[in-house]
Amino acid sequence: CGIVAIVGRKPVAPLIVDALKRLEYRGYDSAGVATVEGEELGRRRAEGKLVNLEKRLQAEPLDGTIGIGHTRWATHGVPNETNAHPHFSDGVAVVHNGIIENFAELRSELVADGYAFASQTDTEVVAHLVSREIARGADPVTAAHKTLKRLQGAFALAIMFRGNDNLIVGARNGPPLAVGHGEGEMFLGSDAIALAPFTNSVTYLEDGDWAVVRRDEIAIFDIEGNPVERKRQQSLSTS
Ligand code: GLU
Repeated sequence: CGIVAIVGRKPVAPLIVDALKRLEYRGYDSAGVATVEGEELGRRRAEGKLVNLEKRLQAEPLDGTIGIGHTRWATHGVPNETNAHPHFSDGVAVVHNGIIENFAELRSELVADGYAFASQTDTEVVAHLVSREIARGADPVTAAHKTLKRLQGAFALAIMFRGNDNLIVGARNGPPLAVGHGEGEMFLGSDAIALAPFTNSVTYLEDGDWAVVRRDEIAIFDIEGNPVERKRQQSLSTS
C-alpha cells in the first residue's frame, strides 16, 4: 500500500523504513525491503508493524545503496512474510501497490513455461514476466517495458535488478507515484510526504507513465515508450 525506492549514496534500508513510516497512515499488514548487495539481491520482510521489519534489519542489516521498500495491504494472499513484498524472480525484485487484474491468466502462462510461484500474490507475476524477458535477452529497461504492456489493472510498481546498483524502474497506472530529485541520488515514493526527508523537488507520474531512475538522471516514458515531459514541482510538505 506504500512504496519507497532510493538510488542512493549510502546504505538505504534504514532510510527506506523511515520513509515508509511516513506512509503508515495508509494502513498495512506487513512490510519489506530489498537492496542490491554486491552482485546479489538481499531482502528482509516481516508481518505486522514496521518495528518488526526494523528488528529484522537490526539483526541482519542490508548494506546496499539502492533499494525498494513496501508496506502491504493484502488483496491477494493472506498477510504473512511469504506474501510480503518485495517479490523476487531470478535477479528481479518488485514492489507493487494495487491489483494486477489479469494475474490469473499471466500466472497460468508462466506456470506452463516452468516458473514456480513462491507466494499467493498477484504481484509475483510481474517479477517473473520481467525475469523471463531478461532470460530471453532483453536488457532490464526493455524487459520492464515489455512487462508493463501486458499488465491490466491498477498499479504502482518499483522494479530493481541484481547486479545493477544504478537502476530502478517505476511505473504508475492508478495509485500515485512520485519521483524525488536529489543531488546524485533519486527517489520514488507513493507521495511527496514520504520523500520529504530527502527532497521537496518532485515529479508526479501520470497514469500510463513509467520512469527509468538512476542516481544522476531520470527519464519518463508513456506506455508506447515515447519520452514524455512531466512538470517538476516543489512539494509543500516539510520534513
Ligand atoms: N495486490 C498486492 C498484494 O496483495 C499489493 C497490495 C498493496 O497494494 O499493498 O500483495
